[in-house]
Amino acid sequence: MVLHRVNFKSQKTNMKICFYIIIVFLLFGCKKDNNTLFDEENVIVNNEGNASSDEDENSNTDEEENASSDEDENGNTDEEENTSSNEDENGNTDEEENTSSDAEENIKLNLRVHLMQSEAWIHPKGSEMNMWITEDDVRDSILPEMNSIWSQAKIEWTIEQIINEPIVEYTGFEEDIEYIINSKRNDQGRSDRARLPLLHKLMDPSNLSSEMELEQNLFHIYIFPFIGNTSQGNSMRPFGYHSVVGCWTNKFNGGENPEKTLLTESQTEFVRGSLARTISHELGHVLGLRHSCNNCLMRNKGYVINAEQIAISTEEARRRRSEN
Ligand SMILES: [Zn+2]
Repeated sequence: MVLHRVNFKSQKTNMKICFYIIIVFLLFGCKKDNNTLFDEENVIVNNEGNASSDEDENSNTDEEENASSDEDENGNTDEEENTSSNEDENGNTDEEENTSSDAEENIKLNLRVHLMQSEAWIHPKGSEMNMWITEDDVRDSILPEMNSIWSQAKIEWTIEQIINEPIVEYTGFEEDIEYIINSKRNDQGRSDRARLPLLHKLMDPSNLSSEMELEQNLFHIYIFPFIGNTSQGNSMRPFGYHSVVGCWTNKFNGGENPEKTLLTESQTEFVRGSLARTISHELGHVLGLRHSCNNCLMRNKGYVINAEQIAISTEEARRRRSEN
């Protein structure tokens, strides 16, 4: 009888232990799911990535289209011809069709532009890279060009705020800037991802999107003096899409002395790719686009946003707008 009771007791204890194990497992399992979301997204991106392996490995495909593809740097003449003929054939016709077929209003998205104020960053090749972009440059040149590009998808960017934002001067920030200025792409053309958390640290936390705002109608562009050699932009997906661009660049000259990035340039004659185009490209990533085209906004040269990309980006734009 006593034995029986002991057995019964230990059976009960076992059941309790089982119960706790299940609870712990469930809790741990859920938490793990959240943590791995990001990785899973990456996997999806990589699986779906139908472009070159460079882009796949650049992870996230959130990088400004990589100039390491020789096409950008060398094949100027051919590509320009291709680009302009593509635009004539696709860009214009599509736009006309869209305009006439549905009278839907533009999707208005709020953009917060951060002009990162700092002493000039000195490049080893000599340039003193100051922050030269003004609010007027943003309102009068960059924004109209962005809206010209995004009108293909009937997306209209409106300025929520332009902030002249001093970089955060934490202990060791100068070394971090030094690192950013010297960062390079590796042999495979992949940019140095270690510079991204440093750029993020230079951002004033009070001007970032809050956790809730990350899903809402608020988009960010940070214009820094420079964001790394031969790099013009990064959508900063792992950092809440607080996207960065540089107002000095040496992408066009393969890493030589940087020059001021052009604010805009003719959409029919690609020269370097402008700040307005790079910003439009990065916001394309924020709206879910990948490098899934050729000689278009999202890859190489050009400005075209194709029909599939219009569908993806407008769906994401509407979702973000409705989350307020
Ligand atoms: Zn890109």
